[in-house]
Amino acid sequence: MNLLKKINYNWIKKFSYPLIIAGPCSAENEEQILNITKNIDKSYVEVLRAGIWKPRTKPGLFEGVGEKGLKWLIKAKKKYNILLSTEVANEEHVKTALKYDIDILWIGARSTCNPFTVQEIANTLKNTNKIILIKNPLNLDIDLWLGGVERLINNNIKNIGLIHRGFSLYKSKTYRNIPCWLEVLTIKKEYPKLPIICDPSHITGNSNKIYEISKKAIDFGYDGLMIETHNNPKEALSDSNQQITPNYLTEILNKILLKKEINKKYINDLNLYRNNLLEIDENIIYLLHNRLITSKNIGVLKKKHNLEIIQKEKMLELKKFYKEICKKINLDEKYIQTLFDFIHKKSIETQII
Ligand code: PEP
Ligand code: MN
Repeated sequence: MNLLKKINYNWIKKFSYPLIIAGPCSAENEEQILNITKNIDKSYVEVLRAGIWKPRTKPGLFEGVGEKGLKWLIKAKKKYNILLSTEVANEEHVKTALKYDIDILWIGARSTCNPFTVQEIANTLKNTNKIILIKNPLNLDIDLWLGGVERLINNNIKNIGLIHRGFSLYKSKTYRNIPCWLEVLTIKKEYPKLPIICDPSHITGNSNKIYEISKKAIDFGYDGLMIETHNNPKEALSDSNQQITPNYLTEILNKILLKKEINKKYINDLNLYRNNLLEIDENIIYLLHNRLITSKNIGVLKKKHNLEIIQKEKMLELKKFYKEICKKINLDEKYIQTLFDFIHKKSIETQII
């Protein structure tokens, strides 16, 4: 039997529904941590988040304050009676976080991409009762993500959950990381006992869009939200565009959770498919754009070498190519042919100009 089906993830039931995790992208100084914890609405937020070790895309950026940040978190925990969470990316991080008795550890998107890293973390966490959350990998590879969960289960770790933070596909202008709801909700349907928390901050990359994604996640029946919250987002040392103030966080949560009847099991299939269509269309547009650029380059070469723009043999070859693909996947050949007639017409126009 599938490992993931064997496990009963009861840990989430100890929290209110939905579980709200909030706090800054990064711990910056003691005062910042204490102020944010003071200002977030503890009637909603049960867990404080703060990155101590920050995986940055480029060197030379703020890479986190390290171990001393955990001391600030402990102070906040004692003063405001809140649970703590932080990201771990290697054996040393795990050992340090465990030394400070941090309640929830999460594996970041960049780490989930690397099976060696996940294995190292899982081995170091062996037999732990801590809650371990694993973010989706950067790329849309559900097996890699679930493989990470299996590595944890294999190390007798029982309190596991997923964090959905979106995927980097092409160059999305709508969101920092495309949510790909359909794929993630398929996991939810298949493994209903594996909690899924949505991270609207890293999906949107934009403080103005946190509400819409958080609402969608709750409508889809997610178990919780992780939202980056900072007293002064503009001055934040990392992810300043996507962090929201504690006041705005409360406003959003009031809107989503108070005025709406929440039914955890309710999944709006229509919305789900509509969202999926939007994502597919976005990708089609980017691909068509790439195709036109390539066509234009071909046009330049043809001109340089005095070749005809319309090369009948090439056209026939392409038609045959499309036909074979359609046959393989049982797709209406005429539909694809008509579509490509239009696409080719535009390519020819681009080459003539
Ligand atoms: C974070 O939570 O601040 C973070 C680095 O997220 P991700 O791993 O999703 O990029
Ligand atoms: Mn962040």
